[in-house]
Amino acid sequence: STADKLVGTRLREQFPWKEREFLKSTLEEAKKGDKVSVETSLHFPDGIRRECRFDCNPRFNGDGGVDGLVILVTDITDRKRSERTLAELNALTSTRELSHEEKISEILRLGCEHFELPFGIISHVLDDQYTITHAQSPDHTLVPGTVFSLKDTYCIQTLKAEAPLATAHASESDFSRHPCYQIFKLETYIGAPLLVDGVVHGTINFSAPDIRKRPFSAADIQIVRQFADWIGYEIARQRDHQALMDAKTNLERVASTDDLTEVLNRRALLEQAEREVQRFRRSKQPLTAVMLDIDHFKQINDQHGHATGDAVLKKFAQTVTSSLRAVDIFGRVGGEEFCLILHETGLDKALVACERLRKKIIKECQFEEIGQTITCSMGLAAAEREDVEFSPIMQKADTALYAAKAAGRNRCVCYEGESNEKFERSVLS
Ligand code: GH3
Ligand code: MG
Ligand code: MG
Repeated sequence: STADKLVGTRLREQFPWKEREFLKSTLEEAKKGDKVSVETSLHFPDGIRRECRFDCNPRFNGDGGVDGLVILVTDITDRKRSERTLAELNALTSTRELSHEEKISEILRLGCEHFELPFGIISHVLDDQYTITHAQSPDHTLVPGTVFSLKDTYCIQTLKAEAPLATAHASESDFSRHPCYQIFKLETYIGAPLLVDGVVHGTINFSAPDIRKRPFSAADIQIVRQFADWIGYEIARQRDHQALMDAKTNLERVASTDDLTEVLNRRALLEQAEREVQRFRRSKQPLTAVMLDIDHFKQINDQHGHATGDAVLKKFAQTVTSSLRAVDIFGRVGGEEFCLILHETGLDKALVACERLRKKIIKECQFEEIGQTITCSMGLAAAEREDVEFSPIMQKADTALYAAKAAGRNRCVCYEGESNEKFERSVLS
């Protein structure tokens, strides 16, 4: 009946005036005898805007004049939209400016826009459990982390089919018998399985409570498949990235730990010490370095064997570690020599802490099978204004340690200048 109504009318009168002008010029050109093809977006009398292609072919009379036009009007809305969506998907996935997470949520947004549907979901499916991991929804009504029973979602069908599935009018299809329709009254759904490294991970789907004006096209099915491919790829890359980061963190930890005592090794300690010195220079807060050395350690080794020596080193490191704050830095710098850096601590407070530590070692770091009491000597040095790096501070602490050894061991000595008299005066017993 629509066709009947059109007979006898002027084509361009079907359209608003702006579009009439456009059509008029196109038709006039064709009337001159040329084939003309144009693409334009037109507002149709049913209220829908459609992308159309007009192929105008002149019809010639015997004299070579044009007495009419054969016009083929093709609705290319879907094709145009698909082209735009694919171009945007391509731009999205190839940009380096977005993170994995941003890419995933942009793809969801693009899907909602393409299908003109309010809800977009990426789900992770494990056994019978369907978990939303990413969602796009009006007013963020869908929350990542929400769990549904897989059998209550259309996605169970999608996963069974191992292919994209869609309905634009659930109540008039088999979908109406599905629990998802009965529970959520979703009329429109398009979804595809999501594979990550070849293994089913979940689904990507778009839906709406309303009936869709137009059914999904073959291109739509292709597009949801493309979305699934890309999301699967992004998740796989995200996983690889995470695995790489974990491996890196683990490697760093291993590389900075002393095998025997499990405290920082020399390299890592010196590295952290440099950072602490830089902080000292910026903050103007005090900083004290302590060199610790176990007394007569060679004797322990000689009398009880290397393995016992190792056990002492382990126990010693544990005893010190257990009495430190998280901000202090402690590591093994050589055989039975350790270094401690007391964060934002001046010499006086450091000396009190070290004395406490020295006593703690006498109390806790002992072995029945070893006859002698295990003790240690410590040399303390505070960072001074002129210290721009750690090595001179460590040197001073080492000098103080030497003085502690010379003064009889099992004591803490503070560095207070180069002269030995000063050492004598600062010796505590
Ligand atoms: P002092 O009181 O002057 O510090 O005497 P000391 O015997 O502790 O000092 P010295 O530096 O002469 O001896 C350190 C010994 O530590 C020598 C070395 O064989 C031993 N040593 C170094 N590294 C290890 C280790 O990893 N395990 C064991 N068991 N011994 C070690
Ligand atoms: Mg020693
Ligand atoms: Mg030594």
